[in-house]
Formats: sequence, C-alpha cells, structure tokens
Amino acid sequence: MAEVLEYKCPGCGAPLVFDSGAQDMSCAHCGNSFAVETLKEYEAAKGFGDADCEWGDYSRDSGGGDWQAGEQENLRLASCPSCGGELIGDAATIAAECPYCGNMMILREQIAGQLRPDFVLPFRLDKEAATAALKNFYKNKPLLPGAFKDQNHIESIKGVYVPFWLFDCGTSARITYRATRVSFRSDSRYNYTTTRHYHVLRAGDIDFARVPVDGSGKIDDVYMEALEPFDYTDFQPFSTTYLSGFLADRYDVDAKASEGRANERIRASAQEMFDATVRREGFTTYHAEAVNIRLKSGEISYALLPVWLLNTKYRGRDYLFAMNGQTGKFTGRLPVSPGKFWGWLVGLFLGLGGVFATAVWLATGGL
Ligand SMILES: [Zn+2]
Ligand SMILES: [Zn+2]
Repeated sequence: MAEVLEYKCPGCGAPLVFDSGAQDMSCAHCGNSFAVETLKEYEAAKGFGDADCEWGDYSRDSGGGDWQAGEQENLRLASCPSCGGELIGDAATIAAECPYCGNMMILREQIAGQLRPDFVLPFRLDKEAATAALKNFYKNKPLLPGAFKDQNHIESIKGVYVPFWLFDCGTSARITYRATRVSFRSDSRYNYTTTRHYHVLRAGDIDFARVPVDGSGKIDDVYMEALEPFDYTDFQPFSTTYLSGFLADRYDVDAKASEGRANERIRASAQEMFDATVRREGFTTYHAEAVNIRLKSGEISYALLPVWLLNTKYRGRDYLFAMNGQTGKFTGRLPVSPGKFWGWLVGLFLGLGGVFATAVWLATGGL
C-alpha cells in the first residue's frame, strides 16, 4: 500500500509525520496528533466548494397557470405619472391615489403580460385594525410631527399585495471553524489561564422552502425583509376575489433578476444555522474558517403578500411606512419634526448642563 499522506498540521501548519506506534499523524512542532480519518474529513470539508443554485425558469407553465376566463376583464392596470408605480386592482379600487407617493393614478386598460400568481396570502388585518395599530405605534414617538399623526393622514393608509418570488432550494454545507475555550484557576502563588484551541467541523444538508424575495422595484428589499416572517400556513391558491378592495403591485423585478438575492439569503441562513450549533457548545471564541455551501437545484413560485403602506411627504422628503398585513409588524422611516427635535435637544443639553454644574460644584465643594 503506497498511499501518500501529506498533511499539514491544522494547528500550526508544520508537516505532519505518520506515527506508526500510535497509528496517527503527529506534529513535531506543536506536539498535537490527529487521526488520519479526521484529517481526511477536515481537508475534504475545506475543499468542498461553493455552488449556486440552478434555478428552473419561472414561466406561465410552471406557475399559476393561465388566467381563467373573465379574471383579467375585471382587473385594471393603473400607473402613477409621478413616481412610475404600476398597480393592479379591480375597477373600483384602482381609481385611487398611488400608495407610494399619494398622486392620482392614471387608469390603463390591460394587464396583459403579467403572470398569474400561484398563491395569495389574504390580509388578516383590515383597515380599521391597521389604522388602530398605526395610531398606537405613533403614541410612543414624541418627535413625530403633528401633521403626521392627524386623522386624515392615517386614513390614507393603503392595502397593497406585494409580489414575491418564493424560492425552494436544498443546500449541502461543510463549514470548518476555529474555536477556543479559555479557563482560569489560581493557587496561592499564581493565576493560570488555559486556552484550548479547537478545530470544529460541521457538515450537513438543509432544505429551504419559500424563501421570499420581493419583485417590486418600488420598495426597498430591506423594508420587505423587515416585515418578515409571514405565516405561510394561510396561503391560498390565487383567486382574483382576494384583490377586491386592495391594490396589487405589478412585479417589475422578475424571478431571474431575484435569484441573486435568494442565493445570498439562503447561504446566509444556512451558515447562521450551522454557526448556532457551534455557539451552543459554549466556546469562548469561534470563527468560521472555510465556508462551503452548495445550493442544489431549486424551484420558484410567485405569491402576493399583504402589506399596509403609508407614504407621506414631509418638508419635501418622502417617507414610506409599511406594516405586515397579516401580523401587524411595522417598519419604516418616520420623520422627525425639526421644532420638536431642537426642543428635545435643548432639553437634553439643559439636563447635561445640570449634571455638569453639579459635578463642578461637588469638585469645588471638596476643596
Ligand atoms: Zn503543529
Ligand atoms: Zn406614485
């Protein structure tokens, strides 16, 4: 048998020598020894490699199928001359203000060319519940301009189904970590610190189902991700009846263009799940050394998810506020009233001045 075993010590990088007595590989430099099998696994894991997913094409055939008779006739497309937003709704709903900028939308006839969604997640919070939640949210924001809290403003909140591409994908990961465990003890003369160094290997497969990436170029991805999670158990096969009274954003980022973000999210989640298993071991420190995550072939579906949107202009700037229409989770940048901000800052300064004066008084009082 002439298997050449050339391994470098994972601890210090010096060449390892086969120790026939102990039947393992030992390092003359740092004194560690390793089982041959362990070294093999470790090396294989480090060289496992990354791979992106081979996503199937999302098309009419793989998706929600063709529009059924009469479905498209009731739907209208409207576009906003101001911000370029394009929304779908029934004829009654669509004669409305743009949820992104508040300008009146212009009705267009056709929704041709849009794919039919596979799923819809119906709104669970109605407008009343949404406005109540919004008022409650405003309550604890002392710096919010008064104009933002007024009744009319709050009522212009709009329910929009946001188009999402959902990615199903399997992953195989091999991640190696370096970790330490530090312990202390003392005797009558010395304090001792012991640092143990570990090489940790994690390997396994994780399947991901319905990782969402929004297909709306009008809304920042970060906003939509802040609204997660959605409870997918309420998913319904798409039907236009769910659109009644709501607007649906027309996707302008297609499935293909969303794949990069999906790969990124799946990769990050897979690593986080592996990291968590290392964290649970209670090491003092750990960091990933070689991260190899292969994404296997995956499938895409198309769904509409419920979001309450409120956009407002305040002193020439746009502020978008969004709320998960199923769970009530909020996200958004809220404006700060300049008058209130300065008032607050002066108050803070006076407070600090008081502390400063007290400190000086104490110091001089002691002399
Ligand atoms: Zn060594
Ligand atoms: Zn607009």
